[in-house]
Amino acid sequence: MKAGLLERLVCVACGGELAPTSNRELVCRACGRQTPVHIGEESREIPIFTPPPPGLQPSPRLARGPELGTPWRRANWRFLEAEANHLPAEAALLDVGAGRGDFADLFSGRNYYALDVYPYPEVDLVCDLSHTNPLRAASFDAVLLMNVLEHVYDGRSLLRSLAHILKPGGVLIVAIPFMVKMHQVPVDFARYTHYALQRMGEDSGLALDKLEGFYDPVSLLGEGIGNLKNAVLPTLHGWRRYAGKALALGLAALSAGLRGVLGPGKLRPPAEARSLAPTGYHLVYRKIPPAD
Ligand SMILES: [Zn+2]
Repeated sequence: MKAGLLERLVCVACGGELAPTSNRELVCRACGRQTPVHIGEESREIPIFTPPPPGLQPSPRLARGPELGTPWRRANWRFLEAEANHLPAEAALLDVGAGRGDFADLFSGRNYYALDVYPYPEVDLVCDLSHTNPLRAASFDAVLLMNVLEHVYDGRSLLRSLAHILKPGGVLIVAIPFMVKMHQVPVDFARYTHYALQRMGEDSGLALDKLEGFYDPVSLLGEGIGNLKNAVLPTLHGWRRYAGKALALGLAALSAGLRGVLGPGKLRPPAEARSLAPTGYHLVYRKIPPAD
């Protein structure tokens, strides 16, 4: 098991200490409850606390980086890189919904743990924290939630769990799409406005430290053009289909031209943006220390 992980785990039934057995499981020293341990790549031991959600299609491994993917994805990378650089070198970090390790390259050599609801070979533990929380209270300095909250049915419950495992003053670093079509269906449940995100944090003991929207009218146009090409035009027949295709091509050309004029989108606080249609939000919440 990843070094330092066992000390951060507790029994989900009684809060007792867990110990590894020779039989690919963790056992609670207090109540005897067993947790299976999956053996992943390079004999990696991955404790499995919850089964994967029904219908989940595992994500493929994609190259990610500051210059890869959509403008939103690139902005996510730069945001997380800047936030990670603010954290002390020894900070304990938990990447929730880490998937195939999209952002893991930013954390090589750091005290970084990857969690997902699916047993991807790159993760250190498998758990749906919105249902079950085997992580010790106040055991992480930072939690990452990068394009994950929209895939969680009970987002409020997840935020409460994450607040529980953060140290007082620790940070929850979030990217979440807003004007982005459904993806990873059927495990796509929500789009939250920043008003909702602020209140959901406050209700969980998390104060908003930073909030910015990513405003990219060209990607908004792209969502519409993609829908037209993939969902609408194939249903048309005869001249309507040809005319529709030609007009959609024109729209795509206009969109590419606009990209040249407008650039890759802009980050700004929603209060300063005239647009009500951000592609998504970047947020940093801080765990409010308990009142004495
Ligand atoms: Zn127990």
